[in-house]
Amino acid sequence: MTTDNSGDVRLSGISKTYGSFTAVHPLDLTVPQGSFFALLGASGCGKTTTLRMIAGLEEPSGGTVHLGDQEVTHLPPYKRPVNTVFQSYALFPHLDIFENVAFGLRRRGIKSVKKQVEDMLELVQLGEQARKKPHQLSGGQQQRVAVARALINHPKVLLLDEPLGALDLKLRRQMQLELKRIQTEVGITFIHVTHDQEEAMTMADTVAVMNAGRVEQLGSPTDLYENPNTTFVANFLGTSNLIEAEVDTKNGDDIVLKAGGGKLVLPEARCSAPTTTGGKVLVGVRPEKISLTHADDAGEIAEGRNRITGRIADSSFIGVSTQYVVDSPVCPEFEVYAQNIDRDARLVPGAEVVLHWNPAHTFGLDATQD
Ligand code: ATP
Repeated sequence: MTTDNSGDVRLSGISKTYGSFTAVHPLDLTVPQGSFFALLGASGCGKTTTLRMIAGLEEPSGGTVHLGDQEVTHLPPYKRPVNTVFQSYALFPHLDIFENVAFGLRRRGIKSVKKQVEDMLELVQLGEQARKKPHQLSGGQQQRVAVARALINHPKVLLLDEPLGALDLKLRRQMQLELKRIQTEVGITFIHVTHDQEEAMTMADTVAVMNAGRVEQLGSPTDLYENPNTTFVANFLGTSNLIEAEVDTKNGDDIVLKAGGGKLVLPEARCSAPTTTGGKVLVGVRPEKISLTHADDAGEIAEGRNRITGRIADSSFIGVSTQYVVDSPVCPEFEVYAQNIDRDARLVPGAEVVLHWNPAHTFGLDATQD
């Protein structure tokens, strides 16, 4: 059996400098055929420049771009089997929706476009809107026209540059699911640029988190969330509680660390820091993995759980859960908040508590990195 890899995107040592400024450091990245891939990062991290080098809209300063077996590094955009959807939909205002979508086919001299355009409008669920002009559609509908127009020539790869950036939050969430559905249906490679971590996590199979022109970590949304390798990734994706600790000893597959007067256990496989005795590690745990027990009931906490003591500084009921801010001697500069806890009338500001969690939900970061 042969595997179709013609939509694989392979970047080898690709880089971009502007004068003495390096926007993208040499980058190796493979995006497999048929995947929904997100380049995620804060403004200015180089994600758009990376996308534009794949599109052919930006000449790389070094390295190569391959689509499947074909090297396209220096090909102009129109000669690459890719298409791009931008945040500004750039629809033709004087043409109706049908003609906007048909444009790419007509430009290639294709005469009978009806069936293809109708199928594409069905795909993006705009079959009823074919004869409207762009200004008669909502922002989300216009964005779907832009997607249909980009897909009509069957590119091997669709590049999306903050395509939902102009939409309000509710519409944005709908369109995230909609784009995911479309990608699954057409089965081609989508590469999506966004600064919105929730958007990347909702849509993508694989996310590359970029920081200052480099890919800081690559993985599935679950991997990145549950096992971040750097403080940047831990803080960029969701909320992390980070506790300064020192490696004490090893116990089978676990590392035992000293934190304040107590001990914490961390699976060695989940630690990206050196694990030699005396090494400094930031021990991380996500807020929703933590349980909170009043100090008077500490004896009821099961053996083998990581635990730290503290005092509730604040609590807020937000419907599905209560969030607590806890000041603890082991993380004086950090506040800990915990969710999804059975409500206990004694868990009010000032109460002495024990925070505890399963060591399997702990990750370890290098405390000496930036
Ligand atoms: P945003 O979300 O704000 O678009 P980004 O992560 O996509 O950010 P890029 O647009 O890739 O970032 O830009 C990366 C860096 O390169 C930025 O610091 C930007 O100012 C710089 N840059 C981009 N284009 C040019 C250019 N033509 N000349 C000089 N510097 C540039």
